[in-house]
Amino acid sequence: MLGHLQKTGGKTVCKVCGAEPKPNEAFHHVTGFGDVCRSCGLQQVVCDGCGSPVRRLTSTVLRGRTLCLPCYRAEREKGEKRIIKERNAESMEEALAASLAEAPEGYRLVGLRLRPSSTKIWMAEYEREDIYLSRCS
Ligand SMILES: [Zn+2]
Ligand SMILES: [Zn+2]
Repeated sequence: MLGHLQKTGGKTVCKVCGAEPKPNEAFHHVTGFGDVCRSCGLQQVVCDGCGSPVRRLTSTVLRGRTLCLPCYRAEREKGEKRIIKERNAESMEEALAASLAEAPEGYRLVGLRLRPSSTKIWMAEYEREDIYLSRCS
């Protein structure tokens, strides 16, 4: 995803050099990585997928790998559309908190229900983020 401009509010520091934004300076958000200042955003990094140089602000970090946009898209499309994970929890609140905390990277939690004929095993359903976003926007 292309870096979007950072929303205002909240304290932001550059993930690379630790600098804080100067007045009127917009930080860029690198998906999967964090916020970077303008000069770090313009630095070149090497895509772990195809080896081509890419500016940091247009890169995306997925499962610890820095990827250019085409590689990120290709990588993302390889994933399952939906994932279901089962977990033990005493209450729905507990199951929900655990399901959100342990969401697989690039997926959104879309449903949570008890497994049929169980009172403690919850099934959390996740949907791939690009599908989720195209459906909801
Ligand atoms: Zn920086
Ligand atoms: Zn690439």
